[in-house]
Amino acid sequence: MPAKFVVVLGSLMSGLGKGIVTSSVLKILDFYGYDALPIKFDGYLNYDCGTMNPYRHGEVFVLDDKSEVDMDFGMYQRFINKNLSGDLSITGGKIFSHIINKERQGDYLGEDVQIIPHLTNEIIARVKGIAQNKKVDVLVIEVGGTIGDIENSYFVEAMRQLSLQEKVVFINLTYVPKINVVGEQKTKPAQLGFRLLMQNGIKPDFIVCRLNDPLDEKTKEKLSMFTNTKINRIIDDSDAYSIYQMPLHFIDQGFDKELISELGLNGNTLDVKKFNEWKNAVNRITDPRHTANIAIVGKYTELRDSYVSVKESVVHAGAAADTKVNITWVESSDLEKPGELKRLEAMDGIIVPGGFGKRGIEGMVNAIQYAREHKVPYLGLCLGMQLMAVEFARNVCGLQGANSTEFDKDAKEKVIYLLPSQKGVRKKGGTMRLGAWKCKLPDKDTIAYKSYGRPLIEERHRHRYEFNNKYLDIVKQNGLKISGVTADGSLVEFIEWGHGFGIGTQAHPELKSTLAEPAPLFVSFIEAAKKLSEKRT
Ligand code: GLN
Repeated sequence: MPAKFVVVLGSLMSGLGKGIVTSSVLKILDFYGYDALPIKFDGYLNYDCGTMNPYRHGEVFVLDDKSEVDMDFGMYQRFINKNLSGDLSITGGKIFSHIINKERQGDYLGEDVQIIPHLTNEIIARVKGIAQNKKVDVLVIEVGGTIGDIENSYFVEAMRQLSLQEKVVFINLTYVPKINVVGEQKTKPAQLGFRLLMQNGIKPDFIVCRLNDPLDEKTKEKLSMFTNTKINRIIDDSDAYSIYQMPLHFIDQGFDKELISELGLNGNTLDVKKFNEWKNAVNRITDPRHTANIAIVGKYTELRDSYVSVKESVVHAGAAADTKVNITWVESSDLEKPGELKRLEAMDGIIVPGGFGKRGIEGMVNAIQYAREHKVPYLGLCLGMQLMAVEFARNVCGLQGANSTEFDKDAKEKVIYLLPSQKGVRKKGGTMRLGAWKCKLPDKDTIAYKSYGRPLIEERHRHRYEFNNKYLDIVKQNGLKISGVTADGSLVEFIEWGHGFGIGTQAHPELKSTLAEPAPLFVSFIEAAKKLSEKRT
């Protein structure tokens, strides 16, 4: 059976949660046993988002195959628990550079190369190629940006053309505001958004309404009438406690049956076991029995999107441990001021996540020292592991001049230094140590081994600096455990204090965590935090 397509388009403004709608559609199809994969279109002219600032653009997500992709891929993966590949991310940069290369090779000799048909045909060919290669039942395509943007206009046009050739179901995510004084949900913006979509030749099959309170029946009727859309296809997407409730909320409205029938799929029924597993995990998020307080000490804490995978991994681990995790975001540079470490007193666990650049580094080191000295569970991720090594070298081994050469090129003790393979690398895009790498956990008596329960694991990476093996002997003599190394044994991957719960990893286990399969290291960290929290009460 040829693949079918679902296209998710956003109207009126960004930030309505197209990623959540796309992920929920994928999850619904998964509940019904259909093989579905996402595609994301991004109009920016960067080749990928690897060179963008996470403070502006949100986290850079990394896939096993070394691709640096938009954070939406993290969301898809957390819902459908599938290993995705970089070709599913189609950016303006990729499409334009491909077309220009072809033009230079003479592939279009004699023609004038245009947005329509050359660019749009290329988009359609890629989408169809993915459908064929991956042999999926459905591709769910999220078009980044908002209808009316210049940036995504050629993607929208390509999808209109695709619908002439294949079965395409269009979902329009829109906004329904409520003016507090009047107390009425207003449909006019959504009607205008709909009209703009119609001007682009697209009649949406479903209208998903983002709003605070549940959609009133009257509002639904009005929208149905003005958009010529059956009332049961006007879907409520009002605020929920957890994003993982959304597939369930959509199913409650009968969206699953309508979508599957519109796609012309039949035969499969809802997999009750899968559905209940999801529901139970969601219940442990919304109604957990324990609590723990966690601090995430980072430097992009004002934009939570910079650490979305870390945050969601904490949610997944919380669900596994039946624990409500209260996260306090601590701007690391604040911990450089005297007396500020007091803020960590109520914490049952501290995480220092990944990051780049010098600002706030000493605050992170202070937080790590605090965790080690006060026996607060600590989890260091990438940069958080590097600084755990620096702190240990300085304060336990007495190497006062210890640092990473990323922050002090001339540090007296270069405990963290540039990976040998990175020397001479000047280009910035896609040149870090990226993607999935195997790691050995040789010692059964370590947090690492106990968390994963096996001697060989694979986690994703994104870094240029690394523990300097010249310092192996001295840190080991002072009690630091090296609990994980690369498959060839050449690089340090996991370090532990050897007392209490203190572990750092050069990897990013948060990039593989899903609600169905939480990252093992996060689960044991939350379990340790839960224990400390119980001891306090
Ligand atoms: N800046 C550090 C490095 O490049 C850490 C990177 C990270 O935390 N992802 O090695």
